[in-house]
Amino acid sequence: MLSTMQDVPLTVTRILRHGMTVHGTSQVTTWTGGSEPQRRSFAEVGARAAQLAHALRGLGVGEGDVTGTLMWNNSEHVEAYFAVPSMGAVLHTLNLRLPADQLSYIARHAGDKVILVNGSLAGLLLPLLPDLPQLEHVVVSGAVADEARAALSAASGVRVHEYEELLAGHPTAYDWPELDERRAASLCYTSGTTGEPKGVAYSHRSIYLHSMQVNMAESMGLTDADLSLVIVPQFHCNSWGLPHAAFMTGINMLMPDRFLQPAPLAEMIERERPTHAAAVPTIWQGLLAELTAKPRDVSTLTQVTIGGSACPPSLMKAFDELGMRVFHAWGMTETSPLGTVARPPATVAPGSEEEFAYRLTQGRFPAGVEGRLVGPGGEVLPWDGASAGELEVRGPWVTGAYVGGVEGESTRPADKFSEDGWLKTGDVGTISPDGYLTLTDRAKDVIKSGGEWISSVELENVLMSHPDIAEAAVVAVPDEKWGERPLATVVFRDGASADFLALREHLASNGIARWQLPERWAVVAEVPKTSVGKFNKKVLRGRFAEGALQVVRV
Ligand code: AMP
Repeated sequence: MLSTMQDVPLTVTRILRHGMTVHGTSQVTTWTGGSEPQRRSFAEVGARAAQLAHALRGLGVGEGDVTGTLMWNNSEHVEAYFAVPSMGAVLHTLNLRLPADQLSYIARHAGDKVILVNGSLAGLLLPLLPDLPQLEHVVVSGAVADEARAALSAASGVRVHEYEELLAGHPTAYDWPELDERRAASLCYTSGTTGEPKGVAYSHRSIYLHSMQVNMAESMGLTDADLSLVIVPQFHCNSWGLPHAAFMTGINMLMPDRFLQPAPLAEMIERERPTHAAAVPTIWQGLLAELTAKPRDVSTLTQVTIGGSACPPSLMKAFDELGMRVFHAWGMTETSPLGTVARPPATVAPGSEEEFAYRLTQGRFPAGVEGRLVGPGGEVLPWDGASAGELEVRGPWVTGAYVGGVEGESTRPADKFSEDGWLKTGDVGTISPDGYLTLTDRAKDVIKSGGEWISSVELENVLMSHPDIAEAAVVAVPDEKWGERPLATVVFRDGASADFLALREHLASNGIARWQLPERWAVVAEVPKTSVGKFNKKVLRGRFAEGALQVVRV
């Protein structure tokens, strides 16, 4: 028997219509660095999205055409988030931290026909233009330096427009088409530290379902009473789904634009009083140092979502002391990204050590994401909290392939997808009998010493709990006797000095087995970061191989 239920497509358009009407008074506030931020209601953002859709149609953007954005987190970027997919075109958020050759590769691969760019990023786009033969229009939003403006207007092959001029005069309503929910709504490329970046095409349906999950109490669970400081970039898995989730439930958003340094972030928190914020650990480490040096009133910020890489226990503790409760989450570009969230079970006592241990795990899978661990021989491992294997996932907001590019078919490389269609995450860990995932490493970062595994993340977490250490990253280096051994690279806090023997003792007294203690150490000025702010271990391994690190053996 077929169901009697209406078959209503789950689309971004539906989220837009709902947000701009039912939650029309909720706001997108964009930090300008000046005395007054820019404030727009969801109703205004929706009206401007309609104007943008008219303008893009005027430029020849039709169904399925790709419109790129090279933008910070701001209101205009949210307008593009809704206008482009709702008109039936495909939004492509370009990662502005990527090197020029990767950016032009990605924009070419996706076939960006129009690129919306913030004026402050025009200089980044300029050198890419000769490599983008398919690009027809560039739309500049916000102030742009005279030189960049002149160079843009002189660029051959593209027509340059000013965002506000382009929108002006267009109707504030658009006859949005009824779309198939399975069509691509937006594209995001992985930040790929190995090989070329790979494209993931989110569907209208996957965005809709993912947004509902983001809004569930077991995930972020925010409402129109909240103001979320959206630090995680809009080009990093759609800011972890926050803008779409916001239009569903009316969450107010505070967008930092280009002001991502610790001092302006602290000022934003004090002045605008957000209740929630989301970012990767490196941002929080910086903010913590800033707040320690210059205390501010951050009392409204009671919920912090941390993900993208493992949250060090020392960071979680420090934030707890500031009254900011950390919610640790795991995900990937390929999983939209929400995969797991660490909300402890209701049965554990609040504030207990047991509760803290639960909060440090990567968390539980929501009903929409299935997870399994696979051993080296392809066998599915039990959820016993001890058997470690590679995590594989599947679900309606998990990708089943990578985009093939303008002319290619989508691809399903065997190292990324199992034969029965699960995504191989490349993450290694355990799952407890009550369903909590603990990741010990990326498969490629785990240190294989004498046939045993050493978790680089565990060593880093204990090192970063030492008061003298600002950052620590551990990588595997070749060793004649053991195959691989850990090399610990550390960044000391100002005024602290190197005593590697004491650091070894610190590790040993915090539960690290003697045979796992690193004997190779190096001091670095900063741990290199990827384009989304994670430790870039590939660069560290490269520096070691070139002999560019001063390694001390203890
Ligand atoms: P990306 O696609 O850039 O978001 O990277 C996804 C990868 O980031 C995952 O496969 C993990 O290796 C890592 N990651 C994300 N969240 C966490 C977390 N909470 N703990 C540990 N690793 C994480």
